[in-house]
Amino acid sequence: MREDDDLKEALYCIRCSACMNSCANFQTVGGHAFGGECYTGGIGGAWTIGTSGSLGKGRFAELCTGCSRCVPNCPVRIDIPRLNTTIKSRLIEAEGKPSLQKLFFGRFSKLAQYASFMPALSNWLNNLPFNRTIMEKIIGVDKRRPIPEFAPKTLVKQFERYRKKNEGVTEKESKHKVILLADVYTNYNNPQVGMATIKVFDRLGISISVSKVFSEGRASQSQGLIELAAQEANNLASYLEPIIDGGYEIIVAEPSVLSLFRYDY
Ligand code: SF4
Ligand code: SF4
Repeated sequence: MREDDDLKEALYCIRCSACMNSCANFQTVGGHAFGGECYTGGIGGAWTIGTSGSLGKGRFAELCTGCSRCVPNCPVRIDIPRLNTTIKSRLIEAEGKPSLQKLFFGRFSKLAQYASFMPALSNWLNNLPFNRTIMEKIIGVDKRRPIPEFAPKTLVKQFERYRKKNEGVTEKESKHKVILLADVYTNYNNPQVGMATIKVFDRLGISISVSKVFSEGRASQSQGLIELAAQEANNLASYLEPIIDGGYEIIVAEPSVLSLFRYDY
């Protein structure tokens, strides 16, 4: 394990279980979902692979969504989601190509873009029993799981319409200039959070605008598609750099994207 540069961080683990007690996924599926003789929980993948020498035995690392909730709870601050992303990426490499499931979720931004042309139709189609059966068989989405809906209007469209009626604070009047990042989930699925954020800044007298929509790399990273995630991060960084140099502050409304910015970029 010590010789594995990417996974050796797991050796700091003192087996205290704080990561399992803070992992929503572990608490939902329980230890049995990890498949028997193995180290369970978020840290278990790296340990099982390290001690058994078998990458396949650590496949359950795919249960990790990379939410980072365990990291501040770990007394030795092991970057557990990073270890699991590495394992997911190695599994893809070992299999030669990513599965349909990984491509579907890893490229969610494209799907969301098309689905949002006609969100009501997309939401209806997503919930047809026949389509749910196909989704379960091909991409492994349990039929009972509610699917997040596409919003009737994206954040970018709602913001444009809102600014026509509410001018907000001009940059000259404001001490700060702020850009809200239109990340994929906030833009297509959860624009009400973005709009609430904009209204708070308006009330505080701070000039705020919305960025272009960007696939920030969160979805691809959580599927272990590291190269795609890095490419998306670089594209977004190239867009944000001149904005930041122009004196703007960037804010993020989606917690998983904030975590991506702080820890992964
Ligand atoms: S990053 Fe993974 S292991 Fe950690 S709390 Fe989130 S899902 Fe669980
Ligand atoms: S919280 Fe940290 S030290 Fe404790 S079991 Fe998890 S990874 Fe190991």
